[in-house]
Amino acid sequence: MKIAHIRTHLLEHRLEVPFQSASMRFDRRQHLLVEVICDDGTTGWGECLGPAKPNRAVVEAYAGWLVGMDPLETEKIWAVLYNALRDQGQRGLTITALSGIDVALWDIKGKHFGVPVSTLLGGRFRDSVKAYATGAFKRDGVDRIEDNATEVAAHRAAGFHAAKIKIGFGVAEDLEVIRAVRDAMGPQMRLMIDGNHGYDTQEAIRLGRAAAEYDIDWFEEPVTPEHLSAYRELRRAQPIPIAGGETWQGRWAMREPVETRCVDILQPDLCGTGGFSEMKRIADMAALHNIRLVPHVWGTAVQIAASLQFMAAQVPNPVRVTPIEPILEFDRTHNPFRQAVVTRPIDHVNGVVAIPDGPGLGIEIDRDALAAFAPRD
Ligand SMILES: [Mg+2]
Repeated sequence: MKIAHIRTHLLEHRLEVPFQSASMRFDRRQHLLVEVICDDGTTGWGECLGPAKPNRAVVEAYAGWLVGMDPLETEKIWAVLYNALRDQGQRGLTITALSGIDVALWDIKGKHFGVPVSTLLGGRFRDSVKAYATGAFKRDGVDRIEDNATEVAAHRAAGFHAAKIKIGFGVAEDLEVIRAVRDAMGPQMRLMIDGNHGYDTQEAIRLGRAAAEYDIDWFEEPVTPEHLSAYRELRRAQPIPIAGGETWQGRWAMREPVETRCVDILQPDLCGTGGFSEMKRIADMAALHNIRLVPHVWGTAVQIAASLQFMAAQVPNPVRVTPIEPILEFDRTHNPFRQAVVTRPIDHVNGVVAIPDGPGLGIEIDRDALAAFAPRD
């Protein structure tokens, strides 16, 4: 079997109500899917985290090396592609683009051997995971405090055990939001806060100290991801566990944060940090340092399915009768193509998501949806 062709699919939906995190404004949803086609007709699907058009350009640049290679040789392909752009591309879009390709190759490998990717990764420890609801952004034209409180109350009613809200807009206003959200969700539900690197160190310390009384499971991306010493300072200076890692691409980017314990919870993104091939290495590195790993997930059902395959095979640390189970980040913001791209949507039941057990990623792509959400301009 040889790789015959690479195709990219850019998907887009313009939002009627734009929303923002502390560092980014969304007036549309845009994601990039990668399709790898083999000479025997086997097709694999992947997705790239981050800006769709630059990712598309890099994936297309990789195609020249990929065509003619054996898709089952995932390590060899990873090394060849990484080496091809290494001198100018040790992090960033070179790795997010490579991630989409690697995920598609593992999908092909699973289909070729007739097993889910989780089996290829070493075996399934679980067939379902609890999901946590990600949302509560700042939306245009609505009162943020009331809007976020209403949203988490709806997550609670839908059965979610946990929700993550967006902060980083200013310490005083964020504390009001956190208080209102905790009131709306009640004492049992778990709450996480995501700063999207909107604070400086002093603000983040102040927020963390004041917010701790609201029983927060983690404080995500408090400061810009390049400032690793600030991460370390935050772990010492305030009581909430620190999370991060969605913008650290590849094992070399993960090395210093892990070895110097910048975070309590590491959040690599499978479709951004190098695909299954690199995620395995990062998971081993995190386990070696006894750092909890909760994957970052922000994409379509292709990314969700890929993350679920990884999570099925995530080794509990420690292995015990009642293990610490991984939890799935489940984006609840508006995105009409998120599930439309697959023939069987990946949904939750009372906050629990079943892990597909079909070959590869365990999904089937709906090509009509790809056409329907292709950009018009
Ligand atoms: Mg985040």
